[in-house]
Amino acid sequence: MAELVVADLRERCATPASLLHDVATEMADEMRAGLEKGDGSRIKMLLSYVDKLPTGREEGLFYGLDLGGTNFRVLRVKLGGNDKRIANRESREVAIPPHLMSGSSTELFGFIASELAKFVADEDKGNSLANGNKRELGFTFSFPVRQHSIASGTLVKWTKAFCIEDAVGEDVVDKLQTAMEKQGLDIHVAALINDAVGTLAGARYYDEDVIAGVIFGTGTNAAYVEKANAIPKLEGGLPKSGDMVINMEWGNFYSCHLPVTEYDQTLDKESLNPGEQIYEKLTSGMYLGEIVRRVLLKLSLQSATFGEIDHTKLKTHFHLRTPHISAMHHDETPDLKIVAEKLEETLEIAGTSLETRKMVVEIIDIIARRAARLAAAGLAGILKKLGRDGSIEKHRSVIAIDGGLFEHYAKFRKCLETTLSELLGEELSKSVVIKHADDGPGIGAALIAASHSQN
Ligand code: ADP
Ligand code: MG
Repeated sequence: MAELVVADLRERCATPASLLHDVATEMADEMRAGLEKGDGSRIKMLLSYVDKLPTGREEGLFYGLDLGGTNFRVLRVKLGGNDKRIANRESREVAIPPHLMSGSSTELFGFIASELAKFVADEDKGNSLANGNKRELGFTFSFPVRQHSIASGTLVKWTKAFCIEDAVGEDVVDKLQTAMEKQGLDIHVAALINDAVGTLAGARYYDEDVIAGVIFGTGTNAAYVEKANAIPKLEGGLPKSGDMVINMEWGNFYSCHLPVTEYDQTLDKESLNPGEQIYEKLTSGMYLGEIVRRVLLKLSLQSATFGEIDHTKLKTHFHLRTPHISAMHHDETPDLKIVAEKLEETLEIAGTSLETRKMVVEIIDIIARRAARLAAAGLAGILKKLGRDGSIEKHRSVIAIDGGLFEHYAKFRKCLETTLSELLGEELSKSVVIKHADDGPGIGAALIAASHSQN
């Protein structure tokens, strides 16, 4: 019985290259449709109003805020211009208290502003601003936002674990600016971006061949540089640079080619956002552990694999987290000691046989590989849209990737890289580089604040 559950999972999660090519083609088609008009696609292809990416020549002191899914970061950078680049940087990271993720927007933004106020209060005296200039800040807010300008935008909807009703439809920069004023902070928000745009900007600062920034963390998203004249829905004059960064919001991508199983369907139905973010639910850190938990629960209820166990933990949603499955997946001890430990510690499944542990690892492998291969198909879709998928490619294309899943889950990362090479073929792979952008999106926000406040 247990073998049947696993065999069925293996079959339903299969991602042969032909399927991935179809996914990539559809991603490219959806990108085109989303650029055409506002509601042209499930992927919103939002205008970021970032039309100047950092060049390396920026100078001055700038702040960045990063509100993503799990942690919140504040940062300060001193940009030294061409030779010096980032002359100095300081940052602080704080976990977001879970109750703030579903409370009121006043509480959430109040918390952000108070953390920022503490950080500013600790400001190194050597960093004080020249002649009373106002502090400029870039705000990385990684949820779908419809922007009206570089420094304003209304929240379309929450994703990941956030759900604060009163903020939907509101301008998040106004919310932040109001909360900062209450704290007595005299800081100007020069740019509103998200983590994907920030990753793109942070990486472009060092390498002008960077074409996209992609996140695989709690959630997933991608941003890339589009030619302004390839964006039919762009109203008003074309930006001087001729370019516009597009915030794809690709987490909401859906295609009938996606290998969605019964586990994914119930996960989706019971989620905070049913029917939405299907690609994200297959590929990102918030969900991978949860999918595995659902498979293990079925295994336990339908077979004697785990023996008589208390199912309380195994039945608790999101109790098995992606870092847990990652630790099990990378277990190299001959008797899979770490798998045994994690099963016991997190799910109260004790006394497993080696055979059972191997089965658990296989389940994890199936779910993580599916995620990484679908992730690679998404990247191939962007290259296809940009016409950088020809057999003889002159351009070097660098894709900067950030996020806890990509950074810490080595097998996910490796599989993503090999799958992309498999999809592109040997020749084309030589011109495509995947780079881990470990500077983080906070830096990108500060850099965009710099490039959009100085000229
Ligand atoms: P965000 O900015 O969205 O808060 P991060 O980029 O910091 O997210 O990534 C956090 C996510 O990365 C977690 O939700 C988790 O799923 C994943 N993650 C963190 N550590 C690990 C790990 N050791 N192995 C696998 N995934 C991890
Ligand atoms: Mg982040």
